[in-house]
Amino acid sequence: MKAVAYCRYSSDNQREESIEAQARAIKEYAEKNNIEIIKIYADEAKSATTDDRPQFLQMIKDSEMNIFQAVIVHKLDRFARNRYDSAFYKRLLKKNGVRLISVLEQLDDSPESIILESVLEGMAEYYSRNLAREVMKGLKENAFQARFNGGIPPFGYDIINGHYVINEKEAEAVRLIFKMYNDGYGYRHIIDELNLHGYKTKKGNTFSKNSLHDILKNEKYIGKYIFNKGTKYKHNICKEDVIIIDNAIPAIIDKDLFEEVQKKMEKAKRTQAAHNVKRIYLLSGLIECGICGASMTGCLGKQKYTYYRCNNKQRTKQCDNKDINQDMIENYILSELQEKIFNDDIIPQIAKSLNKENQEIISDRQNMQKTLLKRKEEIDKSISTIVDAIAAGHFHPSLDAKLTELEQQKNEVEIRLRELELKPDVSIITEDMITAYLIKDKDILTKGDRKKIKAMLPTYIKKITVYHDKVEAILKISINQKVCTWMVAASGVEPPTLRV
Ligand SMILES: [Zn+2]
Repeated sequence: MKAVAYCRYSSDNQREESIEAQARAIKEYAEKNNIEIIKIYADEAKSATTDDRPQFLQMIKDSEMNIFQAVIVHKLDRFARNRYDSAFYKRLLKKNGVRLISVLEQLDDSPESIILESVLEGMAEYYSRNLAREVMKGLKENAFQARFNGGIPPFGYDIINGHYVINEKEAEAVRLIFKMYNDGYGYRHIIDELNLHGYKTKKGNTFSKNSLHDILKNEKYIGKYIFNKGTKYKHNICKEDVIIIDNAIPAIIDKDLFEEVQKKMEKAKRTQAAHNVKRIYLLSGLIECGICGASMTGCLGKQKYTYYRCNNKQRTKQCDNKDINQDMIENYILSELQEKIFNDDIIPQIAKSLNKENQEIISDRQNMQKTLLKRKEEIDKSISTIVDAIAAGHFHPSLDAKLTELEQQKNEVEIRLRELELKPDVSIITEDMITAYLIKDKDILTKGDRKKIKAMLPTYIKKITVYHDKVEAILKISINQKVCTWMVAASGVEPPTLRV
């Protein structure tokens, strides 16, 4: 039998056998049992809690190739650290016809061994958790003494003998950041100022919006020692493992200024959120300039006004069309839609007329298909008549030419038939389906989720054209493109006039 060895070693656990020792034991076992080891996979993990096992995953992947029949580990806890993992990967191996062998634990497939296996695995899991707890205990001890727990020290501090000490030069920068922000300067301005003074982050990079944000939020600067508070990447932390100690480290910023800044940040966040919602330009892609024909795109103006502007005007200034206020045009278009399409009196009418149109399309297609099939049959008949004539010895060059022509015609008919088949099958659409579809979109419009509204608009609006003194909107109605590709211009769409 051919097998591979898998070894794993965590450097933070001194009691473990080294990778060499594990490999040696596996080789001895293999020799005794007439097993040939064709490869050794080994992972060296930095910590018992990280799940970084590139070689393990490679081994699982290689098991698909049918070049080995077993994986040998020194102990089961080398294979996986929890029962879920173990069951998952063992099943993968089994699927590939590969079994797991442990040198120290004798396992076979009897029911007892399965129980034994899960007990052993349970113990390994317990041990791993216990170790994590021990590690946490050490970190907590550090925390209670407000000692540094590793990593990169925060900007503004140095770590001396495990304690936080103010780095005066960096602390100046921290004060500058808080003061400027509190005075109403934006991140851009603050970054420029920091660059002007040559300040760099702890990693030696220039400051970014994110790094400023993190600094402005960091309670360490008012002397709070915080250990193990969740970050955006790490939410699943038990409350009892979070430690906050006031006045435990030297403060750089006074509490009043810090609180002021927090309030301003909260306010900015709310304004930004409100702004982002509005900043979805519902009509982009649908709206164009009636003067030069360029498309118009959403822009943010000086007083936070948003509007649509001709792209040509924006880039080359060669168009004199006016900008159009975003709220005005959008409100206008949405109310037109409410009135002309999503109206309880009109929806049934539209559904009825769309359904009628669909039925016509269906019968047109059926007729077309019938005609084509008939034509194909005729061509086939002609072809076989000529072939028969030639076979009977009546060869003439004109017959050859005729045959070529017929083959070409047949080819064209077949292509057209194929095209018909490829068209979406609209025969399943009913009037009720169309009504339901319209009501769904009416709900979207009523509920006001701008993202969803933006996604549905192209179904109903063909084009919006902005002239000097008026806006023309051409509506269309098209049912879900995946199902159906037809559309009709809505009746009664007059060029609406809007004063800009
Ligand atoms: Zn233009």
